[in-house]
Amino acid sequence: CGIVGYVGPQDSLDVVLEGLRRLEYRGYDSAGIAVLADGGLSTAKKAGKLANLEKELAEEALPPSTLGIGHTRWATHGGPTDRNAHPHVSADGSVAVIHNGIIENFAPLRAEIEATGVEFSSETDTEVVAHLLAAEYPRTPEGPGRLAEAMRAVSRRLEGAFTLVAVHASEPDTLVASRRNSPLVVGVGDGEYFVGSDVAAFIAHTRNALELGQDQVVELHRERGVTVTDFTGTVVEPTAYSVDWDA
Ligand code: GLU
Repeated sequence: CGIVGYVGPQDSLDVVLEGLRRLEYRGYDSAGIAVLADGGLSTAKKAGKLANLEKELAEEALPPSTLGIGHTRWATHGGPTDRNAHPHVSADGSVAVIHNGIIENFAPLRAEIEATGVEFSSETDTEVVAHLLAAEYPRTPEGPGRLAEAMRAVSRRLEGAFTLVAVHASEPDTLVASRRNSPLVVGVGDGEYFVGSDVAAFIAHTRNALELGQDQVVELHRERGVTVTDFTGTVVEPTAYSVDWDA
């Protein structure tokens, strides 16, 4: 339902929670967050209001981090439980994914992944994406843009409507997002980058936004900045605009 992602110099937990609060107006049944620090992913997710998640975070703090993602869920596949809340993490712990929309072909994909011995930990359609990315990543050539390339390969296999944001433990400076039939905007600050399901996710920090087109993948890298491509990898120029409503 609501999506926010951040990479930059600030504490990502603060930025992501702030974004989630501004996305609350959309309605939701669960909320969760993942941060990347010291080469490892840490997640917290809770059914119910954002206050439940904040209580959980107060009891068990996440490590300090400058790259994070957050989600408010409106359940479509699997009830509104802690386990079904996003982010979803791959079985090997390398990938965390948040998702708005519906992966229509998740059932055959799930069967295919389960046949490789992977156990699922939720009833969501979303979880297939975490496992697919974890499997695709090692098959993708090493070098800059590796996670984005894996995201393109996975996105080509997905049917339905999705805004996806993913992080990988091996890429502590990278956020990757993909969209089809579901909104995704990028915020460009001073040495910091945001993604959101709408500009409310980052309006407190920047008014410089980029609108992504259909079937596009964006990489937000701490040093390399913003790179947008279509699902085949052809670089495209995103439409830049300035958000002019009051925060
Ligand atoms: N289909 C996904 C789920 O049920 C995402 C729902 C949403 O857009 O929040 O978990």
